[in-house]
Amino acid sequence: MNKKLEEENQKLTRQVQSLKETLDHIGAYVFMKDSEGCYTFANKLVCELFEHSLDEIVGQDDSKFFALDISDDLKQNDRVVLEQGKTIENVERNIIASTGETRYYMAVKKPLKDKDGNIIGMYGVSTDITERKQMELEIRRKNELLNSILSNLDAFVYMKDKDYRFLYVNEKTAALFGKDPADIIGKTDEEAVSEAGNSEFREMDEKLFLTGEKQEGEETLELANGDVRYYWSTKIPLKDEQGAVSSFIGFSTDITELSLLRNRLEQQVQEEIIKRLKHERLAITDPLTGIYNRLKLDEVLEQEWQRAKRSSQTFGIILLDVDYFKHVNDTCGHQTGDKTLIEIARLLKNNVREIDTVGRWGGEEFLIVCPDTDREGTTHLAEKLRTVIEQHKFPVVTHKTASFGVTTYKDGDTINEMVSRADVALYKAKGSGRNQVEASGK
Ligand code: GH3
Ligand code: MG
Ligand code: MG
Repeated sequence: MNKKLEEENQKLTRQVQSLKETLDHIGAYVFMKDSEGCYTFANKLVCELFEHSLDEIVGQDDSKFFALDISDDLKQNDRVVLEQGKTIENVERNIIASTGETRYYMAVKKPLKDKDGNIIGMYGVSTDITERKQMELEIRRKNELLNSILSNLDAFVYMKDKDYRFLYVNEKTAALFGKDPADIIGKTDEEAVSEAGNSEFREMDEKLFLTGEKQEGEETLELANGDVRYYWSTKIPLKDEQGAVSSFIGFSTDITELSLLRNRLEQQVQEEIIKRLKHERLAITDPLTGIYNRLKLDEVLEQEWQRAKRSSQTFGIILLDVDYFKHVNDTCGHQTGDKTLIEIARLLKNNVREIDTVGRWGGEEFLIVCPDTDREGTTHLAEKLRTVIEQHKFPVVTHKTASFGVTTYKDGDTINEMVSRADVALYKAKGSGRNQVEASGK
């Protein structure tokens, strides 16, 4: 019988021993206390934390190991368990007496009861969550920092989801809409802005989700009072865990003043350009007939001459002089003479190709430059113009004709030589009875 008891005893000791070992390697702080709050057991982690052996710990209360005056949670929690028999589970902040270090524990504390239900002590299991707690604090600090930056930033900062609903707005953005940030979260532009005015924000937002790429550009907001504000916006896509673009963060700055200045400048530049073009146009236009003047003809002649010199292409010129024009002035008056000249200019312009240049050479003489046209083509055009004038019914004077001198570029020609040849041909035409086309070198 005694031997059996002995064996039972040994078995129990072994079991306690292996239980102790298990508790030593459980990765949590495990302890037991009596109803007075004195330790009856502490596992290895607790011994290491207190820097005392189990023998030294047993029989002691927490005042020996913790700075109890500041480790309030610990005291209160123990009291609840030991006095009220409640199980508690919460985060405890303990300050280690020996080092002064603050550590956080997720502690579960339960009362130990005898078979009659009397509280005879308690036991606790605590997991050190100091690192996690510190990380949480760090995140909270960073969030606060971020919030304070975003609130004080002189820019509109916002986040929207795929349904174009605001996930976040900083205070500046909320103020623009005349609302609290909380009243904007979850709303679309239309819902948030409707009272403030019309926006064109959607276009860039859509493009961001469509392309998944960062967007940058100008946006406008029409306020209810009719004012238009301009913004420079940068929108950066944000990816979810699956790597899909599910939201974006946007930064916008008000560039209204800059934009208005730019528009004003653009308008001024445009006006200046138009003014200059008008001036240039005026400088090359014959005031009476509205066709090009001698200045432009000289420029076109030079251009065509340069081109012909460098290529195998030739070009033709037609010089024409109205027949017996003095007679018009003498019999019908100078004004009718002017009108007749305007009519002839119109006829010439309407009967040449787009690339030909018609200009007033002087008095009642006109010159036509025909790019990329040989002697035959130029003569043909001159003949056509001669017929057009001959057949036209002029007001007052009814019938008028002109004589034509034609020439084309030949290698080694100067412009003066060409014009002289045309002049000579023209006077030949005059000599042969007028209302004729004469080509030089025929
Ligand atoms: P033809 O050429 O056939 O020999 O005779 P024409 O009478 O045309 O000869 P001329 O060259 O001697 O006369 C040209 C006249 O054209 C002289 C001038 O009074 C007139 N004339 C020149 N420029 C203008 C103008 O701008 N308006 C008016 N009404 N007449 C002009
Ligand atoms: Mg004449
Ligand atoms: Mg003349």
